[in-house]
Amino acid sequence: MRIEQDLKLDFKDVLIRPKRSTLTSRSEVDISRDFVFLHSQRKYHGIPVIAANMDATGTFEMARALAAHQLCVALHKHYGEAELLAFFAEAASPPNSFYSMGITAPDYDKFRRVKEAAGDAIQNVCVDVANGYTKAFISFIHKLRAAYPEITIMAGNVVTGEMTEELILDGVDVVKVGIGPGSVCTTRRMSGVGYPQLSAIIECADAAHGLHGLICADGGCTSPGDLAKAFGAGADFVMLGGMLAGHDECGGEIVEQDGVRKMHFYGMSSREAMDKYAGGVAGYRAAEGKDVLLDYRGPVEHTAQEILGGVRSACTYVGARTLKELSKRTTFVRVTQQLNEVFGQA
Ligand code: 5GP
Repeated sequence: MRIEQDLKLDFKDVLIRPKRSTLTSRSEVDISRDFVFLHSQRKYHGIPVIAANMDATGTFEMARALAAHQLCVALHKHYGEAELLAFFAEAASPPNSFYSMGITAPDYDKFRRVKEAAGDAIQNVCVDVANGYTKAFISFIHKLRAAYPEITIMAGNVVTGEMTEELILDGVDVVKVGIGPGSVCTTRRMSGVGYPQLSAIIECADAAHGLHGLICADGGCTSPGDLAKAFGAGADFVMLGGMLAGHDECGGEIVEQDGVRKMHFYGMSSREAMDKYAGGVAGYRAAEGKDVLLDYRGPVEHTAQEILGGVRSACTYVGARTLKELSKRTTFVRVTQQLNEVFGQA
């Protein structure tokens, strides 16, 4: 047994220090990014915020709505093949959409069939497992990369620099970072496993950038300021679940509780998701996600604008004319528990 004594931080443990700036308005800030992915060599242009591949947020409707703001979606993996093909065949199919899959043989076979029929309309895939430290996951990445040298692979999740490096060397373009921070995730409580998300981003971004790879910070953002902190810490992309839940585009049923309209939002490893898609929770495992009732928030349009406005505001405060400059101009200050309590973030 070993105890690491280094301080590890979450979003709530820091604030971004303001810096001298020559910017006069948020409108002068450009928060889009251009990337050339390391392995696929494909080009990306957009605002690097991705709706999570959960069945409430990784929807076709969300993809269409977010595309208007240059944001994109990792589609959830429970769509049927015909629906996916129809989506990718749309003349105005939202750009930068990710096809998502797990690492089972049926997942791979389904992807092969859909990709063969959709051709170059599918350019990005998201390979998503709860634990990116397994041999089976690495072997799957090798197989996928060997078969599809030209697709952009985002894959995870991991939380440490050495595993980020390994995945990039194995063929991953964007490493997905985060174990335990999700709003409907109970991994930390159920297994005791996890890593404070801000430190995970800082350490994994450093490792990835050293190899010209990229990372996507996945989970734990509860406000636009958390996205600013994630980008400031070095994230190239940020993935959002809970912040985009509760909207019309999530496709969920609206229920009324004490006169307030609400929507269910549940983790993809929750009992609710396993009942829906896997015929219940298998006897050898426990659910690692929960179901919450969120206020219904109407169309996602307003939320998207609020998120982007917050990130633009952070750039203005530190004098970053572009999102790319934000991490170079970020100095975090640690905040005390007391301050967290004052701001209700504890
Ligand atoms: P959020 O933005 O809601 O804080 O986090 C979204 C992320 O939570 C997803 O992208 C995914 O990585 C993670 N997640 C979604 N469902 C579950 C679940 O049931 N269990 C766990 N451990 N993580 C989940």
